[in-house]
Amino acid sequence: MNNSKKVIVIGLDGVNWQLINKLIDGGFLPNIKKIKENGSFSSLRTTLPPVTAPAWTSFATGANPGQHGCFEFVTPENDLDDYAPISSNSIKVKTFYEQLDEIGKKCILVNLPVSFPPKLSEIVITSLLTRGDDFVFPKKLIDEIPEFTKYKLAPEGKKERKLKEHIHEIRDIEQTRFKCAQKLFKNKPWDFFFVLFSGTDWIQHTKYHDLINQDLKKNQSVINIYQDIDSYLGWFADNLPANTNLLVMSDHGFSDLKGVFFLNEWLAKENYLQFKSKNKKHIDFGKISESRDKSAKKALNLNLSGLTSFMWKYPTIFKFAKKIYDKIKKILPIYVDQDIGIDTLNSSVYSLSNLIYLNRKGRFSNGIIDNDNEYKKIKQEIIDKLTKIKGPDNKDRVFDVVADSQKIYSGRQVRNGPDIILYSSKYLIKSIMGPAFVKGKFQYHSLDGIFISYGPDIKTNMELKQNNIIDIAPTIFKLMNIEQSNIFDGHPISEAIIEKV
Ligand SMILES: [Zn+2]
Repeated sequence: MNNSKKVIVIGLDGVNWQLINKLIDGGFLPNIKKIKENGSFSSLRTTLPPVTAPAWTSFATGANPGQHGCFEFVTPENDLDDYAPISSNSIKVKTFYEQLDEIGKKCILVNLPVSFPPKLSEIVITSLLTRGDDFVFPKKLIDEIPEFTKYKLAPEGKKERKLKEHIHEIRDIEQTRFKCAQKLFKNKPWDFFFVLFSGTDWIQHTKYHDLINQDLKKNQSVINIYQDIDSYLGWFADNLPANTNLLVMSDHGFSDLKGVFFLNEWLAKENYLQFKSKNKKHIDFGKISESRDKSAKKALNLNLSGLTSFMWKYPTIFKFAKKIYDKIKKILPIYVDQDIGIDTLNSSVYSLSNLIYLNRKGRFSNGIIDNDNEYKKIKQEIIDKLTKIKGPDNKDRVFDVVADSQKIYSGRQVRNGPDIILYSSKYLIKSIMGPAFVKGKFQYHSLDGIFISYGPDIKTNMELKQNNIIDIAPTIFKLMNIEQSNIFDGHPISEAIIEKV
């Protein structure tokens, strides 16, 4: 019977314990409460950067980005400012679900980011980063399960619209996703089942600040999203087949932020980066602690809602980067909000959100850094300077992490990744892109998400020490009694599992 162990993983994108516990205490999540109390749980450290695409890829491979090669939603190609979206073909090691497939275990994946194009002959409903209109594989499922005709990958993504409409659309999308997943779960054979609810991340980009800081009663319409998803989760938990364990997890957490750090602006001010436009007004957005421009400083210090409107006053700086945006707008959860227009022939560095790339000869067609010493020197210089930067109050440092990526990642793909990696738990790091629906308050992903395990092989009511997203794949293998793969960097979360004698 050992061989017939099954696992289901339910993803709640971007949730952390701070928010989930507040909602549990408010009585809004009876099912998650029950699963948590009858299972084992911990916080779950994610990838650097804490971004959906590399995080779910680390889940799917049990490996760090230095091995699987996915560091962001997009990756630079020939030139420093030429970015292409990643796909499942960008994953350089075998995922755990491909390994399961190879030994005859049936997998069903619903809404796993970076699963397009599908690598399984079995059922895959792809996610963000799907190209084209087909996301149901095999396509004939649409005839069997008519709810798929209503299935959508993401909200329409209009930047300016009423919150009510946004919430309504998210609830609709997740309800349809649940109905489809429910039918697959009941009617199709599987050994491993995955479904991700993305709506939590989508709404948190707008409402995390309010959910954390305000009385929950003021946010009932937003909480409806969480209550819906809690009831879906409850259905799966109540309908677990025999010998099946359930894992609930998020790919990263969320933070309520104090402000924005415009990294490319800072790199330009320090003369590492040149813009093409000669008449570009220079505003010290980057070096926020010493901003000369009074209005910019006021906007940053006062109320960040002022900053958004301030930005629109300078269209030459903040106009859409059409070239990149057109390529990725349909498949990513983000919009491009700044046209940097960089002069790659005269720039040694460029940043993409939390990642900094150095313009090395041999790597990029217009590379200008041509020897190892110069490369190391510039890298160290930038790390040293960014480490010291303080926020507008001149007290706390802007960045929690400023690191040489070779010290963060390990594996063959490190050389294709960024050169420097940044993380801030207090400031949104903006370069050319930002999360959709940001207006006024700033809230963004953080490092610690959630993990809950529940089922016949799981210890009950037990808080575990922190685990890592790369530990999930090894845990799935352990629960299914499958020998650990040598691709995994992580380890099974044995502390949660009842050892049979
Ligand atoms: Zn996410």
